[in-house]
Amino acid sequence: MEQILDLLLFCASILLIIGLRKLSNPASASKGNLIAAVALGLGVLVSILYPVVTDDNNYLIIVIGISIGAIIGIISSHRVQMTKMPEMVSLLNGFGGLAAALVSLVWLINNDFSGETGQLVIVLLNLFLGFVAFLGSLIAYGKLSGKIQDKHLRISFSTLINITLLVVAISAMIFFSISGNLSITHLCVFIALSLLYGFIFVAPIGGADMPVVISLLNSLTGITAAISGIMTDNKLMLLGGVLVGSSGIILTLLMCKAMNRSLLSVIFGNFSSSKGGESSVDGDVKEINPSDLAIQLAYSSRVCIIPGYGMAVAQAQKTIKDLESVLESNDVEFKYAIHPVAGRMPGHMNVLLAEADISYDKLLDLEEANDYLASTDVAIVVGANDVVNPSALEDPTSKIYGMPILELSKTKSVVVLKRSMKPGYAGIQNPLFFKDNTKMLFGDAKESIELILRELKDL
Ligand code: NDP
Repeated sequence: MEQILDLLLFCASILLIIGLRKLSNPASASKGNLIAAVALGLGVLVSILYPVVTDDNNYLIIVIGISIGAIIGIISSHRVQMTKMPEMVSLLNGFGGLAAALVSLVWLINNDFSGETGQLVIVLLNLFLGFVAFLGSLIAYGKLSGKIQDKHLRISFSTLINITLLVVAISAMIFFSISGNLSITHLCVFIALSLLYGFIFVAPIGGADMPVVISLLNSLTGITAAISGIMTDNKLMLLGGVLVGSSGIILTLLMCKAMNRSLLSVIFGNFSSSKGGESSVDGDVKEINPSDLAIQLAYSSRVCIIPGYGMAVAQAQKTIKDLESVLESNDVEFKYAIHPVAGRMPGHMNVLLAEADISYDKLLDLEEANDYLASTDVAIVVGANDVVNPSALEDPTSKIYGMPILELSKTKSVVVLKRSMKPGYAGIQNPLFFKDNTKMLFGDAKESIELILRELKDL
């Protein structure tokens, strides 16, 4: 029986790898999602059956746990709006960390707080990382949902406190493991220390820097899942954790590159929140109406869409696809410029555009897009703000100074679709809106594009 279960777990691992591989391409992503879900379902089933083999069955607790989790999961997946997905992902990431920390806690209690030195270090490390990922992700959730404002979490000397807490935590792990002197009081203090570090780690990180910390928290949860897989001898959990942890690290490095930050400055909390204030932007804003924009588009050779978080809010992706079809039938070249941190989660724009059946070949990454934008007739910024903010290049006092952006200074004509002059996630003004080559089309992005489409059909 145990061999059959091991074989099933092996099959689930292979399925998980295939599923994740398919997720890397928008065309096969939904199939990949399904295959990965089947793999994880099989993993859960096999894990439930295992206690029968080892004669350690706590079925009542297992059934209660799974039922509560399933009910919460089903209700929240039905209720959550697409725009709230990044918050949901953060929350789930946090619970992954908590689960891993609980695995360590149970291990420590079952083993009477003792074990071999090496074993204890790993268990305590898992406990620490799990609680850091848990509280850090909860704060990230609060920040993404707007429930926690950066200004409420300003902490003086956060870098110093951050490093001190990390050194104390590492020393405690080594001390407890070598001395074997770990009481329930020590454990409670260690858990409090882990939670405090999780708080100090994420709290001071603000504005446009959030993508880096989100992917880092993601990889921490992956690492804790991998360690938990070793502790519980569950190869699927080990494999899943390794995959999430390593892909999370790769994503973190990509996000660091996208934000022009070093990983060390992320880990030690040396974020741009420490930078000075923003210089105010003066000037006149020029507006354009849908009818004039439709004429301009019809006579263009190259049009480029720059999607941002506002596209997700307006759910404008399918309407953009309609615009693409109409303009392409008029021989207009149509592309999409994707900034790696546009939206509220890594790959956010890619997912939404794939959902609208927009071909992957038309998507340009940051470098390609900046070349293309220099020879574009009309760039339509659909609910993007921070990722096109020229302060990142022009204003050394800006919070986002140094972050690579989609550059629109050489584009012949730029039209920004948004509802007001309000700033984006980083909370800073955008001088782009006042530039000579920029015009604003105020309103919900989806409604504005629908109006443009109507005008185009009447031409
Ligand atoms: P921004 O948050 O900078 O701007 C979005 C803009 O969309 C707003 O200015 C808003 O203006 C507009 N908007 C909102 N709703 C609508 C609507 N219905 N129709 C039209 N416009 C709308 O988005 P960007 O994508 O440019 O930048 C992403 C930001 O989020 C960056 O600062 C990034 O660092 C941060 N971030 C990214 C994460 C990631 O992983 N990608 C994670 C966490 C943070 P108005 O209200 O006037 O309409």
